Amino acid sequence: VILPLMGLGLAVYFYSAPENFNEEMLRGKRVIVTGASSGIGEQMAYHLARMGAHVLVTARTEAKLQKVVERCRELGAASARFVSGSMEDTAFAEEVVKEAENTWGGLDMLILNHIGHSYFNYFDGDVDHIRKLLETNFLSYVAMTVTALPMLKESEGNIVVVSSVAGKAPGPFAAPYSATKFALDGFFSSLRHEFIIENVNVSITLCILGYIDTDNAMQAVSHAIKVAPSPKEECALEIIRSGALRQHELHYPPGIVNGMLLLRGQEPGLRLQRFLFDRKKKGEGAAP
Ligand code: NDP
Repeated sequence: VILPLMGLGLAVYFYSAPENFNEEMLRGKRVIVTGASSGIGEQMAYHLARMGAHVLVTARTEAKLQKVVERCRELGAASARFVSGSMEDTAFAEEVVKEAENTWGGLDMLILNHIGHSYFNYFDGDVDHIRKLLETNFLSYVAMTVTALPMLKESEGNIVVVSSVAGKAPGPFAAPYSATKFALDGFFSSLRHEFIIENVNVSITLCILGYIDTDNAMQAVSHAIKVAPSPKEECALEIIRSGALRQHELHYPPGIVNGMLLLRGQEPGLRLQRFLFDRKKKGEGAAP
């Protein structure tokens, strides 16, 4: 009795946590990528296309999405399409998932990556801005997950949530953004526990990213952040890889979270600030 049970246990373990990444894992998979008109999301769409996946990309700017879809087709995507709209509207978030259901009849991977615009500066007291940002950066992630869950349970698929070191170790000048990223960790890490308790074989990968060289992030913070950014192409590949391997968390670049928490623990606030920022050169823009 024990041996077959052990065998079953091992089979479940290895099924739910494959050890080695192979790009073939993504061939023919049906994947939604949000925030894919630029930056890391765009690069993820290109990797997935190269790997032969079906991709559905979304963001607000139709002209950019059209170009991303064309490039995905050139790169060998099994199929590529887009839906444009704003994630400030929960109904739109749900509509994107419905589009996948109507087109593919199922879904294998949901990559939640978009962010709304915020500022990089001292908190200005604007509560409405935080409410809007929570709608875009957090509630739309939850809404898409709820709508996609029946399909992901069917495919035993993956949810990939793109977050930031600002969602693990808060620093100055990004209070609204940081709040939305902490919310993602609270919700999705809690949900992961429930999936494990209920034997729901849908993986949740939380991606904790450091500074990445996307145009928007560099424009917003390069004048104030001292550390060198990591490449978006590699970052995008690592996100897909960790999602396919069903890892609980990705820390990219490696060691970023331990480094930040260590700095914060040693001398709260001050050392972290000295390490990352030039205080006199803060400015407006999207938070990284
Ligand atoms: P970008 O600013 O390059 O891309 C953001 C994407 O979100 C774009 O496709 C944008 O397209 C879309 N978007 C913006 N507003 C909305 C909206 N209201 N509704 C729907 N889509 C919207 O971001 P990055 O590639 O730099 O970041 C990607 C992810 O990585 C984010 O979750 C970010 O928090 C995380 N991250 C990035 C870091 C970095 O240094 N780059 C550091 C840490 C984390 P459009 O304008 O067409 O709508």
